[in-house]
Amino acid sequence: MGTASHNIATQSKTLPCEMTLENLTEFPEGRRVLTCIQCGTCAGTCPYGELMQYPPRRIIGMLRAGELEKVFTSDSLLECVACYACTAKCPRGIDLTGVLLPLIKEQVLLHLPVMPAELQKALENKLRYGNPMGESPRKRAAWVKTAGVPVRILSEDPRPAEVLWYVECYTSYHPRGQDNARATARLLHALGIDFAILGNEEKCAGECGRLSWERGLYNTLMEYNMLVFAKYQFKMIVTSCPHAYDAFRYRYPIVGFNYRISPVPPFFAQYLPQLKSILKRNLNYTVTYHDSCCLGRHNNLYEEPRALLRAIPGVKLVEMVHNRVNTICCGGGGGGMWLDTYYKTKGIERLSERRVKEAIATGADVLAVACPYEVSRFEDALKVLGHEKKMIVRDITELLAEAIEV
Ligand code: SF4
Ligand code: SF4
Repeated sequence: MGTASHNIATQSKTLPCEMTLENLTEFPEGRRVLTCIQCGTCAGTCPYGELMQYPPRRIIGMLRAGELEKVFTSDSLLECVACYACTAKCPRGIDLTGVLLPLIKEQVLLHLPVMPAELQKALENKLRYGNPMGESPRKRAAWVKTAGVPVRILSEDPRPAEVLWYVECYTSYHPRGQDNARATARLLHALGIDFAILGNEEKCAGECGRLSWERGLYNTLMEYNMLVFAKYQFKMIVTSCPHAYDAFRYRYPIVGFNYRISPVPPFFAQYLPQLKSILKRNLNYTVTYHDSCCLGRHNNLYEEPRALLRAIPGVKLVEMVHNRVNTICCGGGGGGMWLDTYYKTKGIERLSERRVKEAIATGADVLAVACPYEVSRFEDALKVLGHEKKMIVRDITELLAEAIEV
C-alpha cells in the first residue's frame, strides 16, 4: 500500500452503485472488458503505447491470468493521458478510458512509493480549494470585473436563468483561460442569452481527478456540486470545459444529475445564423483546429467547432495530418496536466510538443482550440520548440469575439 499522503480524499466512500474491480462483471460495460480479443489495437493506437509496460491489452491479459497485482506495482499507467484513442478504436467497443483504466490507475496510485509532486499538489488543491492551482475560492469570479459586459453571479442575484454557465477552473483562474472567459461572456451577451454563473460557489467538476485516480476526491466534488446546482433554477448548463462536460454527462447521473448540458462550441453552433450577422470583422487568419479528446473522440463533436471557425470572415481552415478521431492528445488529460515534470525527468516527449509540430507543418498562423487546458499547453510547447513567432494559440471563443469587435 502507498503512504498515507497519497490518500488525500478518502473521506468520501465508493458510491453504492459504483463500479469497482471487485464488482466489474455486475455491469454491462464491465462484462464487456472480458470480450477483449487481444488484438492489440489499443496499444497500437495509444500515443504512449510503446512506453507502457502494461498498455490496455496487457492489462486485460493480466486480469484474465489473475495477475493484476503485478500491474498495480508498475508506474507505466502514469503515461496514460485518458485520451480515449484506445476506446475509440477498440473493435469490441470496450470503454477502456472511462471504465477499466481509472479502476486500475486508482490501484497504481495506492501502490506508488512516491507520487509525482506536481500531481499530488494539484489533487490536494482540488480538495482544499476546489481548483488544481490552489487559488483562493474567493477569487474564482475575479475575472468578471474585466469582462466588459455584465455577468450575473447567482449568489448575488438568484433569479432563475436560462443558462447556468459552468466556467470551470482554468477558464476562471489562468490568465489565458480568463481571455476565454471574457470572450465567452461577450458572445453570450451579444447573442442576448440570459445567463448566470455560480461565481465563488463553483468548484472543479472533478473529472480529471477521477481519470487521474482519485475516486474519493471526485465523489466529494460531485456531491458538493450537486448541492450547489439544487439551490438555483436554470434551464440548462453550458460549460467551457470538455472535461466537466464529460463528468456531468457520464458520471454525475449516478447521483441524480439530469440537467440539460452542452459544451460551449455546440451551444454557440446552434446560434450560427445570429452569429453570422454579427461576425463582421475580417480576421485574415489561416487556422488549424485541434480536436480535444473529450469533445471529439469521446463525444463526436467534430464539426461544430469547425462550423464556428468557418463562419468567421477571413478564416481559412486547414487540417493537421491527425484530425478528428485520429487527433493527438495535448497530453493534459487523466492527470497529464500535472505530470510534465515527471515526463521530463523520464525523457518522455510531451504530447503538446508532438502536436504543435503537426500544427506548424500545416503552415497555419493560428492553432484554434476548444479546451481550457490546451491554450497554455500549446503556447508553452511553441515556446519550447522556438515556434512562438510563427503561430498563436486561440480558443475558438476568442476568435469569435475578436470578429465581433470593431
Ligand atoms: S483494442 Fe479492444 S479488443 Fe483489442 S486488445 Fe485492446 S481492449 Fe482488447
Ligand atoms: S486512454 Fe489514451 S493514453 Fe490512455 S491507454 Fe488509452 S490510448 Fe493510451
